[in-house]
Amino acid sequence: TSQVTTVREAAPVLPEVKNIIAIASGKGGVGKSTTAVNLAVALADLGAKVGLIDADISGPSIPTMFNVEGEQPTVKKVGEKNVIIPITQYSVKLMSIGFLTPAESAVVWRGPMASSALRQFISDVEWGELDYLLIDLPPGTSDIHLTMVQTVPVTGAIIVTTPQKVALADATKGLTMFKQPQINVPVLGVVENMAYFSPEELPDNKYYLFGKEGGQKLAEKYKVPFLGEIPIVQSIRESGDTGFPAVYKNGITQKAYTELAETVAR
Ligand code: ADP
Repeated sequence: TSQVTTVREAAPVLPEVKNIIAIASGKGGVGKSTTAVNLAVALADLGAKVGLIDADISGPSIPTMFNVEGEQPTVKKVGEKNVIIPITQYSVKLMSIGFLTPAESAVVWRGPMASSALRQFISDVEWGELDYLLIDLPPGTSDIHLTMVQTVPVTGAIIVTTPQKVALADATKGLTMFKQPQINVPVLGVVENMAYFSPEELPDNKYYLFGKEGGQKLAEKYKVPFLGEIPIVQSIRESGDTGFPAVYKNGITQKAYTELAETVAR
């Protein structure tokens, strides 16, 4: 049997966690972390118990996006074992590779190191009872991804993409990676980020800056659900930079992320 089935058979790794969902993208900069953050907070807002692991070794941005930069998780002893207490912010329990490394230093994470950190985030963190544990994966489809996905018993994956051709090509690789027999992680669906822009003064006008419905067509082509579209909104970027999630801001962004969370929770 493959390594994946071994991991799954070894489960329950986290018997109190109902769903472990990987958030993936083919490319960097398409809004994978932004989607993970706002989905996590939106799910918590709907009343779910939510945890979020930032496994993005290429640039862990969760601490900034949750305004907990520089915080250090505490460790307590439970019997013989050291247990890491996650940082809780906006009702979401957090663990990040960024909590382990100073923000400005360039740490080169090798595959085995990254996987072992992720394994530790699963096995040594006091997650407690959770409905959803989201994992913000690094962008791409390298060996690191394969190992990471095989390291934890992922129940499903969400692919984030922007609508233009060059992003979709990479998103396709991500999608097919999960579908490979030796990985065999169900793809829960595709989220199209930066789907369109609407000027504040013309809210009914949609401008498809990166092309129209690329994510939707990708979902159709591979027969996976289309989970929804998130527009380009200045406040989404600002929210990421200031660490106050866009889902808390009334209006278009709140609606988009709440709908996404409702779709995922269904
Ligand atoms: P990734 O995790 O895919 O590398 P990020 O989530 O870090 O991407 O997003 C990259 C940049 O784009 C960030 O500055 C983020 O605030 C911004 N961004 C992401 N999604 C949107 C959006 N829908 N509207 C406006 N800005 C966005």
